[in-house]
Amino acid sequence: MKKLISFLLLYSFAVAFGQGYHPIDTADYAQRKDFLKNFSANTESLIKKSKSEYPGKRGNELSKIYREFSKEFEQKVKDKDFVFNSVFDAKVKSLIERLRKNNPQVPQNLKILISKDNTPNAYCFADGTFVINMGLFNWLNNDDQLAAVISHELGHKVSEHTAKTFLNMIDQDQTDRVVVQNIKSTRENRNQRAFDVLKNRIYRKGAENRRQEMQADSLGYSIFKNSDFTKTEFINTLKRLEDFDTISPRKLNVETYKKYFNLPKQEFKEKWLQKEDFSLYNYNHYREKLNKDSLKSHPEIVLRINNLKKVFPELETEAADEKPAGSYTVLEKTAEMETLPNFYHSEDYGIGIYAGLQFLQDGKEEGYCKAWLGKCFAKIYEARKNYNLNRYLDRVDPKNQSESYQQFLNFMWNLSLDEIKNIADYYKTTES
Ligand SMILES: [Zn+2]
Repeated sequence: MKKLISFLLLYSFAVAFGQGYHPIDTADYAQRKDFLKNFSANTESLIKKSKSEYPGKRGNELSKIYREFSKEFEQKVKDKDFVFNSVFDAKVKSLIERLRKNNPQVPQNLKILISKDNTPNAYCFADGTFVINMGLFNWLNNDDQLAAVISHELGHKVSEHTAKTFLNMIDQDQTDRVVVQNIKSTRENRNQRAFDVLKNRIYRKGAENRRQEMQADSLGYSIFKNSDFTKTEFINTLKRLEDFDTISPRKLNVETYKKYFNLPKQEFKEKWLQKEDFSLYNYNHYREKLNKDSLKSHPEIVLRINNLKKVFPELETEAADEKPAGSYTVLEKTAEMETLPNFYHSEDYGIGIYAGLQFLQDGKEEGYCKAWLGKCFAKIYEARKNYNLNRYLDRVDPKNQSESYQQFLNFMWNLSLDEIKNIADYYKTTES
């Protein structure tokens, strides 16, 4: 019996190490350079095309937006917001090939970029650049669901929705909202920039937006059903994306705080968990990820599902169970583990710590998570020292945050500068 136990211990030790997470390779200088070269050439031909297609003011304004857009986007590529050498690229390319088989209308000149963004979202640009967020791999459950999202985006591309969206803005004299040359980009005005008009398509309200979404659904589903994917997964995908908006983040237990913040040189203090008087906080600072309100403005997914069922009666039969993940599991796991470096990259250090603690609570990759905890706490320490912690850590906002997240924010704001430093130093020495 004793032998068995030690074998089991040894075995789980070996498994733990065998499965130790290897971060994705970010040494992609050559690919980045190559992409930028192609991208700027594509932009120029897109501008040329727009000017001949829409003579006069509309074409000029459209060109201005595309130029502004490409400037912003190139900067994001230079800032390493995208990864080029990952398991994700190969998967997306192979899914597009499968979609192309019976669909000659799928464009040939598509460029795939994987974004270090944890929100499950994808978008495509007028020139054929496709951006797929890592969060999508983490949130969706199988190849078919990913293919459904890609099909939907192809629907936008085939219908030229990008140009139509911008032309609408030009016709309504709203171009000042997207062309913001010479205005320094801050977190607050980022949502108004040209790049984000596309990126946040999903958050936009209004009848025109809903019409575009439904059109992309219908066209996307036509492409999807011509391929060898399971039809009902298209509906499952929409439901899954709706879940992201309605399911509140998982709870962080008090025991978890006690376990990870009771350090050899600094005992855990109960007062860290005390709740502050909310009336002292300002309410206008929030981020989309944990904000329940912004999610209510989504185009109604139920309406979209009903529309699809009306146009395609075969979807009327209640959606089947989700297909098993199979080889997709690897992508899901990679995207999940990249959540922490992604939050660090976007300077969301507070949320990064929150996610790291949730991973630790769930028993995931201890060394790796602790190392990211250390990196984020080091940044929180710098920010606290420089009096700009507000930029990296949300304020408590009882109306828009889950109980668990409020508890976390109270904990973080209750720590003194020295206490933060001790935590940072302790976890900085952890090796992943
Ligand atoms: Zn869409």
